Parts: sequence; structure tokens; C-alpha cells
Amino acid sequence: MLPRSPTRAVRIGTVTIGDNHPVAVQSMTATKTRDIDATVAQVQALAEAGADVVRIAVDSMSDAQSLREIRRQTTANLSVDLQENYRLAEVVAPHVDKIRYNPGHLYHHERQRSWQDKVRYLADVARDNDCAIRVGVNCGSVDPEKRSLYPPEDSISPMLESALEHCQWLDSIGFTRYCVSLKDSDPANVVEVNQRFAQRRPDVPLHLGVTEAGLPPDGIVKTRVAFEQLISCGIGDTIRVSLTVPNARKPEEIEAGRQILADIAAGRVRSVVRFQPEGLNIISCPSCSRVENEAFVELAQQVKAMTAYAKDHALTIAVMGCRVNGPGETDDADLGLWCGPNHVNLKRRSEPLGAFRYDEILPRLKQELDALIASRDSGQ
Ligand code: SF4
Repeated sequence: MLPRSPTRAVRIGTVTIGDNHPVAVQSMTATKTRDIDATVAQVQALAEAGADVVRIAVDSMSDAQSLREIRRQTTANLSVDLQENYRLAEVVAPHVDKIRYNPGHLYHHERQRSWQDKVRYLADVARDNDCAIRVGVNCGSVDPEKRSLYPPEDSISPMLESALEHCQWLDSIGFTRYCVSLKDSDPANVVEVNQRFAQRRPDVPLHLGVTEAGLPPDGIVKTRVAFEQLISCGIGDTIRVSLTVPNARKPEEIEAGRQILADIAAGRVRSVVRFQPEGLNIISCPSCSRVENEAFVELAQQVKAMTAYAKDHALTIAVMGCRVNGPGETDDADLGLWCGPNHVNLKRRSEPLGAFRYDEILPRLKQELDALIASRDSGQ
């Protein structure tokens, strides 16, 4: 048992987080949600590996309707990940234990309706269906209004203020069965934003994660660096280790999470230093049901192998699996790739450089990487 901060208890199906309960370990399915057999098999594999909660992404009515059958075939605690279409909540809530919404995604549909109204609707749906809520703030998709209030170099305050505002609103409408996550691909930012949140709202349980941590073993190291600093100080009630691995290896996320927790509890900590990579940093999303081409995981591995020659250059390359989060979450990388069904979109920071076939992208990426290294070397 690790000593925990005194957060309030939030029940998610048969597991409770906060209030000194053991840190719960979660993962997420990466199968197509409407492929019921594959999704149930993955939920079961994760549950057998020790997942306390399994999250499933829902983007369409057919995904949402599949949840009924998935629920019938598993007793695992299920969480659902809503994207822009927040109204799918009422279709899925009867079949899950927790609803995750992203404050930065509530703007896309029904723009005339206020976010407060939309959150009230989500809270009513959650209450009526015995579900908890996670307010899931992500560095790549922060509420645009909040972001505009801060200088571009301050990525932490908009995330923090967005989360705090949603907590305040949920409290004011009498819904307190929620937790919060503040995820970033930089472990140092994850540490800072969660520490600042815990200072302001010590009562709210936190779900910790480093988003787009990438391939193992580097992805595990990045996550470990952040978790060691937070969990050892009592911050964090549930965790997810996000790894870019093929579907059959998803249970490794649970194994990695449990190992990190066991090591922290035993004092086997590697670092309590800020994670500031002095060399090449490759980030890649853990994949989920939104991946549009299965070749994405292999591409992430190929990018890592192909770019090994640049390991001493302090550059970030991001590889993302879909158009939902890919375009936004590659903006801060020096070079970004996000995968569509037939093409991979290449970017230099926020500037699009074109879409390339899967068999064309690596040489094109190398060309851009060489140009970037040359321009840095010449001090441009
Ligand atoms: S970038 Fe897309 S595919 Fe990757 S985890 Fe995020 S939503 Fe899923």
C-alpha cells in the first residue's frame, strides 16, 4: 500500500478509487469497437492481466450500440471514451461504469449550446445510470477559449484552469462522483500540472498518464519518471501506462503499470529528476479503436529504427494513429505524422507538408529530418 492523499471516494463499477484505496490500473482497447468479438477478447485479456477498469472508445452510433453486447459478455468494469459526439453518452451509459469526456471536445457539436449545459446533460446521464465521470484534459486538445487566455509557451495553465472550471461546475450542480486527468506527452509537464491541480483541489481523485508515451521500453521509462514523482508524494488514484504496441500485446500496459507501482512502493525508484531529453524524443499514441490503418504500429516502429542515426539531436517526432487527435497532437512536435486509411500526413510543427503513401513516408520523413538537423547545425 502506498500512502495516498485524502481524495474523495469515487466508485467505478466494483472498484473504488480515492479515499486511500489502492491505486487502480487501467488500460484501453484498440480494437474496432463494433467488432464485438475482438473487443470482448481484448477486454478479457486486459482484465486477466489485472486491469481494474477497461476503457473503450465510442465514436459512432454503431460503436455505441455494440456496447450493449460487449457488456453482456464481460463483467469487467468498463469506461467509455466520448469524443465530439457527447450525445452518445445516453446510448452507452446503461452498459458502462464510467464516462470520460474531454472539455476541449465539447465545442464541436451544437455550438449554440453552452459547455455548462452539455456537462449538466452528461452528469444527468451518469447519475441516472450509476456511472462515474472522468474529466479528461489533454494537452493536444485544450479548450480553445482557455488556451487563448495564456501565452503560447504556457501549455500548463490552460489545462489546469480548464480542469478546475469543470470541477467547479460539476460540484455546483451536485455531481461529485468524478475524477480528473491532465495528460501531456512530456513527463515534466504531467508532473507539474498534476502537482498544481492537487494543491488547488486536494479532494479530487486523479487519473495519471503520460499521453503518447510511445513504444516500450522508452514509453515505460517516460511514464515511470512522471509516476515516481507523483505517486511517491501521494498524488494519483488510478493510472494508465499508454504504450504503442500491437493489439495482442496490450496487456503489457497493465503489467508495466503494476510493476511501476510495486517498484515505487518498494523504494525502487530510478529518478526523481525532471525528464529533459537531450536527444531524439519519439512520441507515439497507444492506438485505440480509432486507428485507421493497422500499419500504424509498424510505422511507429519503423520511424524509431529509421531515425536512430539522429539520436543525439534534441528533436521530437510524433506518430499518431488517426485524424481525431492526430492533427492537433502533432502540432508541438518538430516533425509529426498522423495516419489516415491510405496515407500518412506529414507536418513540420503545425505546417502540413503533404500526405504520402505508407511506402513513401519514411524516405520523405528522413529528408525532412536531415533538413531540420542541417538548419539547426548551421544555426538557422
Ligand atoms: S491518436 Fe487517435 S488512434 Fe491514437 S490513441 Fe489517440 S484517438 Fe486513438
